Amino acid sequence: MKHPLVLSILAVILFVSCGKTTQNPFFTEYDTPFQVPPFDRIEEKHYLPAFRQGIQQSTEEIQAIATNPDAPTFANTIEAMERSGKQLTKVSNVFYNLVSAHTNDQMQAIAKEVAPMLSKHRDDILLNPELYARVKAVYEQRSDLDLNSEQLQLVEEYYKMFVRGGADLEGEDREQLRKINEEISVLMVQFGENILKENNRFELVIDKKDDLAGLPDNAIQAAAEAATKRGHKGKWVFTLHKPSLIPFLQYSDRRDLREKMLNAYINRGNNGDELDNKELVKKMVTLRAKRAKLLGYETHAHYVLAENMAKEPSRVYDLLNQLWTPALERARTEAKHLQKMIADQGKDFKLQPWDWWYYAEKLKQERYAIDDKVLRPYFKLENVRQGAFDLATRLYGLTFEERTDIPKYHKEVRVYEVKESNGDHVGILYTDYYPRESKSGGAWMNDYRQQQKLDGEIHPIVTNVFNFPEPTAEQPALLSFDNVQTLFHEFGHALHGLLSDCTYPTLAGTNVPRDFVELPSQIMENWAAEPEVMKSYARHYQTGEPIPDELIERIQKARLFNQGFATVEYLAASFLDMDWHTISTADIQGVHEFERTSLDRIGLIEDDPISFDNAKTIREIERVIYL
Ligand SMILES: [Zn+2]
Repeated sequence: MKHPLVLSILAVILFVSCGKTTQNPFFTEYDTPFQVPPFDRIEEKHYLPAFRQGIQQSTEEIQAIATNPDAPTFANTIEAMERSGKQLTKVSNVFYNLVSAHTNDQMQAIAKEVAPMLSKHRDDILLNPELYARVKAVYEQRSDLDLNSEQLQLVEEYYKMFVRGGADLEGEDREQLRKINEEISVLMVQFGENILKENNRFELVIDKKDDLAGLPDNAIQAAAEAATKRGHKGKWVFTLHKPSLIPFLQYSDRRDLREKMLNAYINRGNNGDELDNKELVKKMVTLRAKRAKLLGYETHAHYVLAENMAKEPSRVYDLLNQLWTPALERARTEAKHLQKMIADQGKDFKLQPWDWWYYAEKLKQERYAIDDKVLRPYFKLENVRQGAFDLATRLYGLTFEERTDIPKYHKEVRVYEVKESNGDHVGILYTDYYPRESKSGGAWMNDYRQQQKLDGEIHPIVTNVFNFPEPTAEQPALLSFDNVQTLFHEFGHALHGLLSDCTYPTLAGTNVPRDFVELPSQIMENWAAEPEVMKSYARHYQTGEPIPDELIERIQKARLFNQGFATVEYLAASFLDMDWHTISTADIQGVHEFERTSLDRIGLIEDDPISFDNAKTIREIERVIYL
């Protein structure tokens, strides 16, 4: 028998927790404009209860579908699943966006706690025999069900999802699959966290002005401001965030410091300490290989490619091999030109990885009279963004209106309402441009809400996140041309999400094969360099003068410059990715040895200046893992 005091304490606890849950914004309809997430009211403590309730709700909904006494139909099985899990989707959409764009220790801890919960939940659905029997029954009758093409595709996607999720496995294998999935989910979170911490922990502190030789004024100014922020007032700090790293490698006359910066960058996750990712990499590829075998695929690459346009590894290797030889030849020629430049300056050393950016920049100036320093003033961030918006207006009739009445998760975020030319609402676009310690490296597009019209029109909410150079006290944010292309690229992905016109969320937006999803972004990226488009956005930030024709011409001419190097760099990363994921479990050896063998095979030698950004490539594992 329970003591009355215990009961009353229980009652108080229940009351308090109920009181708290009513405050949780994930538990009520968002009352914000366009029902965007109420970032101003979301706190870390809201996530876990929302995940727990979301999983419980989804479990009950799925159970009801699986045990429905009626015969399986498209509506009571497939459509019903599309309607389920709304609470879980709601919290996941916010949480996973912010874990990438604006995280902290508490959120990282939640991510680790939630990963195995979500992995288990997904397996509970995909390995539910009653549910699978219903999905399979609908799949088998699909051609007689009078389904439209979208519904037919949806049925096929669901069936595939169950089969690929292990629904046909029996006995021990099912438990093994669950275990593998859970382990991978936790390793993924840890891997990302290590890279984030590595990005943040290195700093090069410079205290003598002489050590800044060669660097452009804006890079020096930014470094001074970074020093103040990091508690080194009066000095200069350079970090591994790209807007700090790249100008340093391009311009610093201090060869030893360039070496230090580059080595710090390429050794992220490879320092033999608590942030080292090598063991994680080994475990992940081993688990992936095991899972693929379990599911009846030769390797993980076979498993992944089966649902992509490429279909199988041999086709990927064929494409890579076709490009590799000419690209490598080209890169070797480029290396010779850089070596000659070193000799012409009366210096006597072999071109090294940390020299490549520096001499390539000098050679580009010499050959094409193009200097990153001269170009940047024409690429003020706000002007480039407007250029991308104007292009979407011309191509698709879309308009973009800034909204200041919409909650944001960080003060640097800007929010736009996107409309059709007739004024109809299309969706919401967030932009988030500058590096922060709370943000992952790179640039990406993601959804806060996916378009669908299963039960009335739901409009998309998408985000574009970047790591562009920040404005300084003296200058607005000025982009490199590479940054400009990245802005247009991610904007292409955003348009893909915004212009989605699907009934079912599973098929909406960017939910397409990974090797197709880059099409809209590539198209938009190519527009950036089109002279007519460039003239519309590239205006000098001080004079307002449009970019001169002859400068556009020089940019066009220089587009193939250094492309041997650039191509070899990403192809080598692709080879590595494929090699890591075409192993069978017996092949695993040390990470360095594995990568060495892989790069030897394609002809990159140990002290090759070209190979620097590929050899010792633990840093490339970042890409390897996520692909
Ligand atoms: Zn992309």
